[in-house]
Amino acid sequence: MKQFDFVVVGSGIAGLTFALKAAQSGSVAVVTKRRGADSSTAWAQGGVACVTSDEDSFDLHIRDTLDAGAGLCDLLAVETVVKEGPERVRELMELGLHFDERDVEGHRELDLGREGGHSKRRVLHVHDLTGFEIENTLLSAAAASPNVELLENHMAVDLITAAKLGFASEDHCLGVYVLDETTGVVETIRTDRLVLATGGCGKVYLYTTNPSVATGDGVAMAWRAGAVIANMEFIQFHPTCLFHPHATSFLISEAVRGEGGILRNAKGEDFTARVHPRGSLAPRDVVARAIDAEMKRTGAQCVYLDITQQPRDFLKERFPHIYETCLRWGIDMAKEPIPVVPAAHYQCGGVKTTIDGATSLPGLYAIGEVACTGLHGANRLASNSLLEGLVMAHRAAEALTRKKSPAHPAGAISLPEWKSGDAQDVDELVVIYHNWDEIRRLMWDYVGIVRTDKRLHRASARLRNLLREIQEFYWNFRINVDLLELRNLATVASLIVDSALSRKESRGLHFTTDYPVMSDDLFRRETLLSRG
Ligand SMILES: Cc1cc2nc3c(=O)[nH]c(=O)nc-3n(C[C@H](O)[C@H](O)[C@H](O)COP(=O)(O)OP(=O)(O)OC[C@H]3O[C@@H](n4cnc5c(N)ncnc54)[C@H](O)[C@@H]3O)c2cc1C
Repeated sequence: MKQFDFVVVGSGIAGLTFALKAAQSGSVAVVTKRRGADSSTAWAQGGVACVTSDEDSFDLHIRDTLDAGAGLCDLLAVETVVKEGPERVRELMELGLHFDERDVEGHRELDLGREGGHSKRRVLHVHDLTGFEIENTLLSAAAASPNVELLENHMAVDLITAAKLGFASEDHCLGVYVLDETTGVVETIRTDRLVLATGGCGKVYLYTTNPSVATGDGVAMAWRAGAVIANMEFIQFHPTCLFHPHATSFLISEAVRGEGGILRNAKGEDFTARVHPRGSLAPRDVVARAIDAEMKRTGAQCVYLDITQQPRDFLKERFPHIYETCLRWGIDMAKEPIPVVPAAHYQCGGVKTTIDGATSLPGLYAIGEVACTGLHGANRLASNSLLEGLVMAHRAAEALTRKKSPAHPAGAISLPEWKSGDAQDVDELVVIYHNWDEIRRLMWDYVGIVRTDKRLHRASARLRNLLREIQEFYWNFRINVDLLELRNLATVASLIVDSALSRKESRGLHFTTDYPVMSDDLFRRETLLSRG
């Protein structure tokens, strides 16, 4: 049995930033289910939204965030993340990250990008590879920290709680079961300070911009442990994922629209101008719905993002990754519009936390995309999530360092070893893949950008059956990564459906044709779900 002062699950921006800070006060394990760099963080292109320019202000960034959030943001969370952001970004730069700069009247300034929903240029970036550079900077710093142990190919399976062990006093988290994917052994890791930084759940949908690790494990584990989950109906669909039969999950950053890219239909018409004064730079939910409606109206398989008015040299310099990737697929973005479709991108809800990252389960913290702090409300403002990861990691590290030991510290309790009983190896992998495909397809078809009660009920009925089947599998067979991810996907899918069913209005990212109007009287509140 291993023991650490702090355990963080996930090695994206939130998990690694937390680890570096907590390492100043004790030993830290970073549990991560593939290689360290496998994360959404490493895929982020646009950048980090942060007030750094004299032309910008905290008030404007706060206002833009609140506008995008459609009445559901928590003002304290918004103010905290926006105002503490610049200090956290500075720390990242001190670790060696160099954001792009440009010459302005003889001196160098940060080159600020513009994205949808932002009233000012405020997005710090490193070309269109911002997340990749952030991830590498943080991984290098973690490797140099003697107190941080990176456990790669280790997948967190379930949380260990006092209630599960039968204690009658206040429940709290005591540790986590972790599958060592190389040996197949499930290890018990004890700690009084456990942090989930497991990212989002894009893989629950057929089309997504997310990497394969994004299977909603943190939300599913927290839910099973009895923590409160909030706002899972608000899934952000990114309007512009490359549409190509062989390219999966390749995002065309919003920054392309920030630099003048216009969405057009097959006839070349700027159709978003009809639905919002900001046209192609309207908030993401508005743009994604406009594309969905245009595709349904015309029967087209995609729409087009046209940035051909920008010179080739500019595109190569500003978007080297997108430019090269499009070329590889035979699309010259300097000469022709890029075919795009919407795809699941970001989970605005998650494990409900305080502004320090504490969940409703004592001893359990959640930071980054897995958490719901209230920053995003019903819709995330572009590039606010990397910023949130930085700020919340810092705050959680501070809070956990100050935290007193619980009544029953993990070290004083004997934790049971993981039992797999008489389980056998899974020899019917086809069942897992079939269920996995079915969940992702049904979520795309029934719980996508535009919803109806009928489709949600259909999804719910099917998911109930799938969950039963998967549970049976889970207890009968020796666990492996695929089975664990499938179980988590099914759980998260049902949380999304249940949350969507209980919101009888349209707000932000949740749009239903049965209740097309926003109802502040009845629904200006978070959707909270809990088993406890
Ligand atoms: C293509 C793309 C582009 C984006 N662009 C931007 C942008 O420009 N600006 C912006 O602000 N945001 C952007 N986002 C969103 C942003 O990247 C994410 O919200 C953010 O990186 C999440 O960070 P995180 O640390 O919470 O999670 P992640 O970076 O996703 O890291 C999660 C970690 O948890 C690990 N993990 C998950 N489950 C388990 C488990 N059971 N056991 C062990 N480990 C586990 C994963 O392997 C991974 O290491 C983008 C997202 C994508 C997909």
